[in-house]
Amino acid sequence: MLNENFPVKMFLGRGCLKNNSDLFSDFGKKCLIVTGKSSAILSGALKDVTDIFEISCISYEIFDEVEPNPLTLTCKKAGDLAASINADFILGIGGGSVLDASKAIAIFASNPDLSHSKIYERAIPSAHLPVILIGTTSGTGSEVTGVSVLTNADTGLKKSISGKDCYAEVVFGDYTYTMSTPEDVRISTALDAFSHAVEAYLSSTANSDVLYFSSRALSYLKKYITSGSFSSLNDEDYESLYIASVYAGLAINLAGTCFPHTVGYYLTENYGIPHGRACAAFFPVFAARAKKYCPERFEAILKILDTDEKSLIENIIRLTDINIKIEKSEAQRISLRWKNGVKNFDRTPGGFTYKDAESALLSL
Ligand code: NAP
Ligand code: ZN
Repeated sequence: MLNENFPVKMFLGRGCLKNNSDLFSDFGKKCLIVTGKSSAILSGALKDVTDIFEISCISYEIFDEVEPNPLTLTCKKAGDLAASINADFILGIGGGSVLDASKAIAIFASNPDLSHSKIYERAIPSAHLPVILIGTTSGTGSEVTGVSVLTNADTGLKKSISGKDCYAEVVFGDYTYTMSTPEDVRISTALDAFSHAVEAYLSSTANSDVLYFSSRALSYLKKYITSGSFSSLNDEDYESLYIASVYAGLAINLAGTCFPHTVGYYLTENYGIPHGRACAAFFPVFAARAKKYCPERFEAILKILDTDEKSLIENIIRLTDINIKIEKSEAQRISLRWKNGVKNFDRTPGGFTYKDAESALLSL
C-alpha cells in the first residue's frame, strides 16, 4: 500500500531496535540524542540505544530539554548544540513532541544561520541531518508523517511545517516503549489517533488509500474507544494501540486533518489541554457535520467501530473530559484568527468557516 516515494524505513514490533542495531553505523559516529524530561528513561529506550552505541563505538550527547508542544527556540538551541558537536545524525526518543522537535533540530543543525521562527518560511538552504525516531506514545503518528508541529516562541501559537525535510530516515516502532505511559497520556494519545483516523476518513481529500489506512486504525482502536477502558492493558493491547497510531498517521499524511485539529490547537495553547483531548473535544460537532454532509462515510465509521452514534459520542465526551466553557466574546475574538481561510477547514465535510469555528468553541 505504501507509495514507493514514501521515504521512511520503518521497523515495527518488540525488539526491533536491538534486532537492527547494525543500522546506526550507516549514519556516522556522532549522534545528538533528543529527549523530553523523563520518557526516554522510563520507557527503557534510552538505555537500549546507549548500550548499542557503546558496542558500535558511536559517541553521543543527550539534549533532554524538549517540552510538550515544543518551542521553536528549544529546537534552535538543540540544533546549535548538534552543529557544535559535529553530530552526524539526530536520534529522537519520545512522544510526538520529541519526534517533531527532532525533525526541526535536524534542520537547524545544518542551517546555523536560520533563526528560530524562520523555520516556518521553508526556504531552507541546506539539507537536514538524518533523523532516526523511536516513538514512546501511541498517538501522533509523527513517525510516518512529513510534518512537525512547533510552537512559535514569539507568538505562543502552534503551527506545523511540512515537506520532504520533515520525514525521518528510519523509525523504530517498538510498542513496549509505550508501556510506561500513565493512563491519562494513553487516553489522550489514543484520542489523537482516533481523531486522525476519523478526520482523514471524512476529509474531502480522502482517497482509497486513506480510507484503508483510517479503517485499519479504527479497527485497532475499536476495543478501547468503545469500552472507554485504558487500564490493565496487556502486551497485545499496547501493540494494537501503537499500530493504530501508525495507520492513522499514514492516513493524515495523505489526507491532512480537518477543523478539530486547527481549533484544538487553541485549547492547548490557552488552556494547556493535551493535544489528543483538545482535538477530540470537537468530535460531537464534527460528527454532526459528517452525518449531514457525508452520511455514508459516517455510517461506515460506526460500522467499523460496531457502535451507534449516541454511544460513540458519549464515550468520546467522557474520555475527553473537558471542563471549560468559552464565553461568546472570547470565541468571537479567537475565531477571527481563521477568517482568511484554513486548509483544514476546506477539507471538513460541508466546508467550515471562521463563524463555524466560533460556534464550535461555544459548543464546549
Ligand atoms: P507528548 O507531548 O510527546 O508527551 C506527553 C507527555 O507524555 C510528556 O510528559 C512525556 O514525557 C510523556 N511520555 C511520553 N512517552 C512516555 C512514556 N513511554 N512513559 C512515560 N511518559 C511518557 O505527547 P504526544 O501526544 O505524543 O505528542 C503531542 C505533540 O505531537 C503535539 O505537539 C502535537 O501537536 C504533535 N502532533 C504531531 C503530529 C505530526 O504529524 N507530526 C500529529 C499529531 C500531533 P517527556 O516530557 O519526558 O517526554
Ligand atoms: Zn493530532
